[in-house]
Amino acid sequence: MSRADDDARRLAERKRGGATLSDREIERLISAYDEGGVDDEAMTAWLRAVCAAGMDIDETTALTRAMVASGETIDWSDLGGPVVDKHSTGGVGDAVTLVAVPLAAACGARVAKLSGRALGHTGGTLDKIECVPGARVELSIEEFKAQVELVGCAVAAASVALAPADKKLYALRDRSGTVASIPLIAASIMSKKIAAGASAIVLDVKVGAGAFMREMGEARELARTMVEIGAKMGKRVRALLTAMDEPLADAAGDALELDEALLVLEGGGSSRLRDVSRAVAIAMLEVCGVASIGEGQVRIDTALRSGAARRKLEAMVDAQGGVLDHFDRKFPAGTDVASASDGFINRIDAGAIGESVVLAKRGRTAEDARRVGVRVLRHVGEQASVGDPILRYVALEPDQEILRLLNQAVKVGMTKPQERLLVLDIISEL
Ligand code: URA
Repeated sequence: MSRADDDARRLAERKRGGATLSDREIERLISAYDEGGVDDEAMTAWLRAVCAAGMDIDETTALTRAMVASGETIDWSDLGGPVVDKHSTGGVGDAVTLVAVPLAAACGARVAKLSGRALGHTGGTLDKIECVPGARVELSIEEFKAQVELVGCAVAAASVALAPADKKLYALRDRSGTVASIPLIAASIMSKKIAAGASAIVLDVKVGAGAFMREMGEARELARTMVEIGAKMGKRVRALLTAMDEPLADAAGDALELDEALLVLEGGGSSRLRDVSRAVAIAMLEVCGVASIGEGQVRIDTALRSGAARRKLEAMVDAQGGVLDHFDRKFPAGTDVASASDGFINRIDAGAIGESVVLAKRGRTAEDARRVGVRVLRHVGEQASVGDPILRYVALEPDQEILRLLNQAVKVGMTKPQERLLVLDIISEL
């Protein structure tokens, strides 16, 4: 056992005993682990201690800083103005990035967004962009910067050069069952956002059955922690807590969600997707100083009505090699899931729908997998009679297991459920 392993175990023991670790101790631990000086077993002991005892905001910020310091940071200073980033903690039918990014850019913000792929039952923005024939998401840092300057926005895959210690630690957390810790999640997300270099960040923290944070209390704590880390590291951060009990858009699945985003940008589509995307885009304008909230609302609505935001998405995808007009917006008729009783729709479980999409993709080619999904034909609170279609499984052929899952995702009851807000809270610097 190396001296660094010994140190890691000592820190784990102190943490378990309720001690607060110093910035220096955390920095040394992360840099030793990143360089291979601490083995996985010793590091897992420390992660378990953090999961059990937690970390205060200074320790969480020190962890974030150490992970940022493990790699490169994108420097936007040569652009001579603020750059804004946006992050979602992950949802189902969550096509907000594809609407909010071009919307904010069409209103004058410079948006630099590094995205991920599907994680668990939640969809990934990169997979949705790749539905456009020719579209590339692997941009070099130079290409990414040049596109933000030229077009006003770019959405690309996170470079391996940014926060590599987070990648290594995240993989270990995944293997060791130590993912579910608010300080570890907050530091992981914020280290990537801070390394990406934007001066302003909007976080869309999803809450509900289709989100990683099921309860409002834990979502609020995660949002507060991330906002505070940002403030301590000189960033302007807003966190929106948004509902994720039923899918946000009227469909889940990569190509279906790109189509949903286009419908909103064309002035129609899902009002739920439009409302959350508007709120996120308004916060993006406000946090980077382009427009106050009131002025932002007017500009955003104009950009939606005039088609400027739709043209901005087209320009962004074009700069990344894709031709939006070549995206096939015709989908198979699919198989409907109908209401088994008369009443009100009480639940459409976003988590179960996300899992159905994962199952539908399994065993298909990458191209086929992008085109399957689920349409949401009616929403929670609406009335339904026996036989009324509520969900539609979109694929060339029906699949009994998926249809059974979708049936279970819907609950129709005699009472009308209380209406729930989509934007549940907004958290800014404390
Ligand atoms: N997403 C991240 O980037 N990190 C986490 O720890 C959890 C979700």
